[in-house]
Amino acid sequence: WSSNNFPWTKKLEANNKKVFGNHSFRLNQREVINATMSGYDVFVLMPTGGGKSLTYQLPALICPGVTLVISPLVSLIQDQIMHLLQANIPAAYLSANMEWTEQQEIFRELNSEYCKYKLLYVTPEKVAKSDVLLRQLENLNARQMLARIVIDEAHCVSQWGHDFRPDYQALGILKQKFPNTPVLALTATATASVKEDVVQALGLVNCIVFRQSFNRPNLWYSVIPKTKKCLDDIDKFIKENHYDESGIIYCLSRMDCEKVAERLQECGHKAAFYHGSMDPAQRAFVQKQWSKDEINIICATVAFGMGINKPDVRFVIHHSLPKSIEGYHQECGRAGRDGQRSSCVLYYSYSDYIRVKHMISQGVIEQSPLASGYNRTNTTNSGRVLETNTENLLRMVSYCENDVDCRRILQLIHLGEKFDCTTCKKTCDNCLKIKSFVEKDVTGIAKQLVELVKLTGQQFSSSHILEVYRGSFSQFVKKHRHQTVSLHGVGKHLAKGEASRVLRHLVTEDLLAEEVKKSDVYGSVSSILKVNELKACELFSGRKTILIRFPSSV
Ligand code: ADP
Ligand code: ZN
Repeated sequence: WSSNNFPWTKKLEANNKKVFGNHSFRLNQREVINATMSGYDVFVLMPTGGGKSLTYQLPALICPGVTLVISPLVSLIQDQIMHLLQANIPAAYLSANMEWTEQQEIFRELNSEYCKYKLLYVTPEKVAKSDVLLRQLENLNARQMLARIVIDEAHCVSQWGHDFRPDYQALGILKQKFPNTPVLALTATATASVKEDVVQALGLVNCIVFRQSFNRPNLWYSVIPKTKKCLDDIDKFIKENHYDESGIIYCLSRMDCEKVAERLQECGHKAAFYHGSMDPAQRAFVQKQWSKDEINIICATVAFGMGINKPDVRFVIHHSLPKSIEGYHQECGRAGRDGQRSSCVLYYSYSDYIRVKHMISQGVIEQSPLASGYNRTNTTNSGRVLETNTENLLRMVSYCENDVDCRRILQLIHLGEKFDCTTCKKTCDNCLKIKSFVEKDVTGIAKQLVELVKLTGQQFSSSHILEVYRGSFSQFVKKHRHQTVSLHGVGKHLAKGEASRVLRHLVTEDLLAEEVKKSDVYGSVSSILKVNELKACELFSGRKTILIRFPSSV
């Protein structure tokens, strides 16, 4: 697909320079354009900032007819249209909350013989709910003026993705109605299963896939245990490494954003907060101040970040556990767009996991703007979505608790990409500290822990189980007479942290399940361990061994 001998090559190059002002193509841009212009369905996985827009805007410009672009956010659409109009490319958009007369105007133009628009942007809701739009597209198609269908942020189609959006599923109708119109699906994030899901749901046929490595060599990753002194640690980290530089601190709740921002201000940083309950003008103001470097640090929920193109973000700090590895990868991706070295630091504590899990189950967690369209009115999550979210969160936990494997491998495996850890060149905490490791069989410990959960009636938290295992005689232990349980104190001899790593591992491996229990004290949440009998059976019958890697001291 990289050939320079397509009939359109000359026109392509000329317009890339003249209209878009680019001197050359970036990785995969020419290939994607050639494939879609040859009439194939194409699926593009390209990291944020890779230049996806050009791969459909340039074909739209040089092909006859109108290119339909489905994009999830009106704000993103408006931004795109503004750029297109500046480049003298006629474009329009239709959204659900637009005045009817305004829509009529656009329809009239689309129906005219020489329709001037090269691109028509719509939101997925519009496709799902507007028969008028579908009729309009049929009309264009009958006149052979529907050039191409572009689906931006295509991962929103998939329930396995971290930004699932039901209206995207309705987009399957487009391929049914217009089987001969090439579809171009684009995303910056997709695991193998998400990709399959998207291809299926959209009904793409013989689709050509372009993907490039999602590794970002200039980002340095680390996970740091989160303690009560976390804010002091963050202050110190920034002062020592990124003083007066630009960064984002992702926080779990709106209140956290405000608390963290206030504290950093007290420490002398130019910080501000950003979250979903501020009014749009306020948010735009903060974002602008940050873009102009009047503010260095934004303490934000995941609501912040879409469509942000600041090249010199030097650090992304996660004050709390992200919801998924995909989401984490994307949030980190906002650092170092200019290719300069930047830090991605995640503060992890197990209690944050419990908190995030609870917030997910209650549907009160703030979502990225891509997904928030549909969850705002739901008070609780349920069914498959909840299951997926919990699964995604557990993988994030095991990412954090892994202190052996290269962070890049752990992220990229999840995105369906193999990575050779020698390429990391010690730019992640694990590669940096570990000279070698040993693999240890902890099946015996695992059996004891599962047994202990059963013996105590599957009513207690992991920390309580660990206390009993280590032989504690605390008041709580005595209150429940757990000092008399046969496995009390059996794990006394183990190195600090070992039993807890095994226990965490059992949870992430799904041998033990953690159920969230709300306590009577307002807002506080605890969880109790339950045994997954099916999986436990495998363990006790000897069909399953549990191996954990430990760094070796040599
Ligand atoms: P994505 O949608 O993949 O995140 P964009 O399409 O927004 O990325 O492109 C990111 C930036 O890169 C934009 O500022 C765009 O103008 C620029 N860009 C895209 N392609 C090229 C190119 N071939 N040469 C130079 N700049 C480019
Ligand atoms: Zn590494």
